Parts: sequence; C-alpha cells; structure tokens
Amino acid sequence: TTFKDLGVVDVLCEACEELKWKKPSTIQKESIPVALQGKDIIGLAETGSGKTGAFALPILQALLENPQRYFALILTPTRELAFQISEQFEALGASIGVKCAVIVGGMDMVAQALMLSKKPHIIIATPGRLVDHLENTKGFNLKALKFLVMDEADRILNMDFEVEVDKILRVIPRERRTYLFSATMTKKVQKLQRASLQDPVKIEV
Ligand code: AMP
Repeated sequence: TTFKDLGVVDVLCEACEELKWKKPSTIQKESIPVALQGKDIIGLAETGSGKTGAFALPILQALLENPQRYFALILTPTRELAFQISEQFEALGASIGVKCAVIVGGMDMVAQALMLSKKPHIIIATPGRLVDHLENTKGFNLKALKFLVMDEADRILNMDFEVEVDKILRVIPRERRTYLFSATMTKKVQKLQRASLQDPVKIEV
C-alpha cells in the first residue's frame, strides 16, 4: 500500500517521500481512508505508531481544499509532544505553506498572543494554556474550527485537564471532525468520547 492508494493527494505524497516515509504505518493505513471519508475516529495507538501522520495528512488535505485560519486544534498533554506534533505538521505541510502555532504553558503569554494574532492554520496546544488564551486574548476564538484532535487523551485526562477540555468543547463548533487518540481506553476516555465524537469509527493497532 502507498499513501496514494489511501487517497492522499500528490503534493502530500511527495512530502511523505521527502520525510523518507516509504509506506504508511498500520495506524495510517487504517485511519487515513476513514478520515478522508469525513468520519470521526477513535484510535487506540501508542506514540511511535505514526499516529501524528495519521491525523496530520487528512487535516492538511482538507486544508488544501479549504484554506482557512484557525482550521484545526490539536490538544496534547505535554509541551514536548506539542513541539513534536508541530514539527511533523510543518514538515508535511511545508510545500503548501501551512502555519502552526504551539501554545503551551511555561512560555510567554504575550508572545503567544502575537502568534495567534497571525492567524495560524493549525494550533497545537496543551489544554490549560489554550483556555487561558480563549479567556484573555482579545480577538482570539475558535468559532471557525473544522478539526479537533485529542492526542494521548488518557494522559490529558490523567493530568486533570478535564475541566479545561470541557471548556474548549463548549466554545468550538459542533459541526467539525474530531479524532481522539489514546493508548488506553479508560472510563474517563469513554466519557470524553461520548461528549465529543459523532458516530466514530474505532481503530485499534
Ligand atoms: P508518532 O507515532 O506520530 O509520534 O511518529 C513516530 C515517528 O515515526 C516520527 O518520527 C515520524 O516522523 C515517523 N513516521 C511516521 N509515519 C511514518 C511512516 N509512514 N514511515 C516512516 N516513519 C514514519
């Protein structure tokens, strides 16, 4: 199987080639066609499985068709993961001019507000700091958001970000696609799944 076989457009297949991604990983093979059909996904997969590519490629492909600022929000538990995800989006999306902002705790709010004012396509954030900006940064909202990804959802919930995630869910459109990835399926993840996904396809690798 190639990325092209999964329905990935040529410009993004070329980006995969440049990253030396010769063929899709298992989670990519199973998720990408489902995502390109416009379905929500709950994916049980670990870091190292290629799950970032599994959600980044369909999001970038949708962005190509409908270029728009504040297009996708990726929630992740830690700043290290946020920067890793951002690197993959920037590498895959370099030739299409994708702009990302990483919004994580422990960094300057004003500098982040400036990044948000430049209206990036993709926001990669930890929940606490994102809520801080939603509440305090003038002119910033997610009313036009098209995609929400919750990456490592079990860890997000174990870090007590439940309240923040609820707040975020309340201010983004219902009309959107949502991908939830988690290494484990806990009670809390199931509850979040029910609150955030519509008729999801479950993918386990
Ligand atoms: P992830 O599980 O998304 O954190 O990805 C783990 C690592 O695998 C990252 O360094 C990716 O660049 C790499 N990777 C993702 N997909 C592929 C692929 N299809 N072929 C080779 N490497 C990949």
